[in-house]
Amino acid sequence: MSNKTIPYKIYLDEHEMPKQWYNMRADMKNKPAPLLNPGTLKPMTVEELSGVFCKELAKQELDDTTAYIDIPDEILKFYKMYRPSPLVRAYCLEEKLKTPAKIYYKFEGNNTSGSHKLNSAIAQAYYAKQQGLKGVTTETGAGQWGTALSMACSYFDLDCKVYMVKVSYEQKPFRREVMRTYGASVTPSPSETTEVGKRILAEHPGTTGSLGCAISEAVEAAVGTEGYRYVLGSVLNQVLLHQSVIGLETKAALDKYDITPDLIIGCAGGGSNLGGLISPFMGEKLRGEKDYHFIAVEPASCPSFTRGKFAYDFCDTGKVCPLAKMYTLGSGFIPSANHAGGLRYHGMSTVLSQLYDDGLMEARAVEQTAVFEAAEQFARIEGILPAPESSHAIRVAIDEAVKCRETGEEKTIVFGLTGTGYFDMVAYENFHNGNMTDYIPTDEDLKPGFESLPKMD
Ligand SMILES: *Cc1c(COP(=O)(O)O)cnc(C)c1O
Repeated sequence: MSNKTIPYKIYLDEHEMPKQWYNMRADMKNKPAPLLNPGTLKPMTVEELSGVFCKELAKQELDDTTAYIDIPDEILKFYKMYRPSPLVRAYCLEEKLKTPAKIYYKFEGNNTSGSHKLNSAIAQAYYAKQQGLKGVTTETGAGQWGTALSMACSYFDLDCKVYMVKVSYEQKPFRREVMRTYGASVTPSPSETTEVGKRILAEHPGTTGSLGCAISEAVEAAVGTEGYRYVLGSVLNQVLLHQSVIGLETKAALDKYDITPDLIIGCAGGGSNLGGLISPFMGEKLRGEKDYHFIAVEPASCPSFTRGKFAYDFCDTGKVCPLAKMYTLGSGFIPSANHAGGLRYHGMSTVLSQLYDDGLMEARAVEQTAVFEAAEQFARIEGILPAPESSHAIRVAIDEAVKCRETGEEKTIVFGLTGTGYFDMVAYENFHNGNMTDYIPTDEDLKPGFESLPKMD
């Protein structure tokens, strides 16, 4: 540790920004299990994947060996409009908690989409444009990904069709209007506009939807429309790759001051921000150079890591996507509608699933009201009004800092603050009015999801 005074915000200069993404898979001894064709149960090839994804992204998806991939200049140019994002030393929070721990957070909410999702949206839109496509389709849950993709598509003049989980479409009309401001068309899912949407509506009348349903609809729309491909904002290997920019910047900023973190914490929905944040650090751990303690934080209402099974599963409710081996609650799992955060996906990145199964990281599930208590505390002390998703990481960062107060340990804690919560005020309102419940599924509740897992032999 150098004795330079550490500023409240550590910024990088433009020339210090990463020029390559880092692909953790290259350093993994146990590679993530391959995506399987649901018909033949054989590993998917680039050609097969290219029917659904852009060619270059299909290649990135299956590339387990190239450690560094150049960030194209046009993407770097766009990154420079809102990056590097600040790494903030939470001096005020430390003081309030009376902890000897040193707390840092990497703030990704400083763009109109309000989250880290723009880092991958701009990359995916770029490759779609390169390929000469007319447009892309996607799903969005809480709305951040749809917003990010709308921004990226308008930058490259691509058409953007978004299937938005119905409960969010109704709860977050302003999110929808931001997307339309950027020229996207937004359809509540499940809808009558696709075959799979009709089927899901027939099986679950009145359903408020799920990410898994919306994915099925978006894939069907892409495959059925000339000049379109499907893009996804989380879970996939390519998304973790693009999000490595978060971790690379974090590491460069810490290195400037010779700071080595002990604990790195992130919320986990599909795993993209966490995967991105931990990438370069996990790389060091995998290569045996350094050791870090990583914690994935998920909602107790959708506990993929902590209560899920490590198995091949469908990525979507309609079962049209390839099979992925991941920690999952089953594609038939539909989380409760009252859960406020957007961490509702039934599965988890195959990369993170493998790392977790290999004992290289920890996972914790936290309850909703405890998350909002942390969110409010953070907003009042550090000034930023956090997204409910991000607040899962805040919860555990605070818990760990409080533990340090009790043990006297001066740990260095880094967590990912993935976004702002201005569009989540209905959730905050429920919290303030005492109407928020901590729904935790019983083992019985989880059963139908597990029964929906594909039988592999
Ligand atoms: C989408 C989102 C997440 C969760 O997605 P991951 O792929 O797990 O990172 C977390 N925070 C915010 C603000 C989001 O928009």
